[in-house]
Amino acid sequence: MTWKLDVTPDVCIGSGVCAALAPDRHRLDGVHARPVTRGVEPDEALLDAADTCPAMAITVSERRAVVGPRPWS
Ligand code: SF4
Repeated sequence: MTWKLDVTPDVCIGSGVCAALAPDRHRLDGVHARPVTRGVEPDEALLDAADTCPAMAITVSERRAVVGPRPWS
């Protein structure tokens, strides 16, 4: 199983939260973050980063289903 990691650059505000939570998966590139690679092994840290992104700029998906950010329960 592989997840796909996306960051919407025009939504990202460059907070750096994702790079702090998952530094091997997100990298700040100028004022925006970008995934290091789009295809990634499932990792809880990726969901944590998507959940805590202050701009909701991160999407984690498996095939066509969104797995992160997770809905509030
Ligand atoms: S946490 Fe969200 S807003 Fe902050 S750098 Fe990452 S993608 Fe951008």
